[in-house]
Amino acid sequence: MDKMNNEVLLEIKGLYKEYENKKVLNNVSLDIHKGEVVVVLGPSGCGKSTLLRCLNGLEPIQGGDIKLSGMSLTDKNVKWQEVRQKIGMVFQNYELFPHMTVIENILLGPTKVQNRDKNEVLEQAKQLLSRVGLLDRMDAYPRQLSGGQKQRIAIVRALCMNPEVMLFDEVTASLDPEMVREVLDVILELAKQGMTMAIVTHEMNFARAVADKIVFIDSGSICEVAEPEEFFENPKTERAQHFLNIFEY
Ligand code: ADP
Repeated sequence: MDKMNNEVLLEIKGLYKEYENKKVLNNVSLDIHKGEVVVVLGPSGCGKSTLLRCLNGLEPIQGGDIKLSGMSLTDKNVKWQEVRQKIGMVFQNYELFPHMTVIENILLGPTKVQNRDKNEVLEQAKQLLSRVGLLDRMDAYPRQLSGGQKQRIAIVRALCMNPEVMLFDEVTASLDPEMVREVLDVILELAKQGMTMAIVTHEMNFARAVADKIVFIDSGSICEVAEPEEFFENPKTERAQHFLNIFEY
């Protein structure tokens, strides 16, 4: 596959993570290439969300290494504020500031953290808002928006920082079914534009459509890495077969 020839943006080697002496991720190694879309699947509690959180330093790790463009994130001198500008993350529960309008939420990071020119960011924000069909809601407050709209705004807010890679952690899990599609379509569009992404989802059709590579995790370890077609049609491990049966695949 073309993208596999691209440079490795995120390199995860022998990652080990525990919570209070409980092993949660064990010897996880994975390369994410520039432009590649990696979908992480696995049963609830297997460590998917923890893996994403480790990638942008929300969780400390106890072993192994993570490199972003060759730079080790386990280095004591790592500047997390700079790293997080390169690794955008969107969560299940949007995490928009309720007392700020949509546009204020979006401008905050680029102007306060990145010290960028407000007019320049505003232009970019408007373009992104119009791409997700929400330009007319830029002066609304989060409480005035539906869950699907809030999640699209959260994606725009992350994109406006011009990240090199985006992490999506179950971003449709708290949405009503009719709003899931509008959010997944935004992510599919990003994939088409070549954004590098790591996605945790339970939407199997979406996973199959968007992924270049499926990573199947069980009990904190990677069991299978495969192209989507291969993973869904011919899963190699019994654990993956069992997982897909639950979803009636
Ligand atoms: P998944 O995203 O695959 O559902 P998680 O990464 O959320 O799984 O959780 C992996 C394991 O780590 C689970 O057993 C969960 O209970 C545990 N865990 C997650 N977060 C914490 C935490 N902050 N403290 C202690 N244990 C945690």
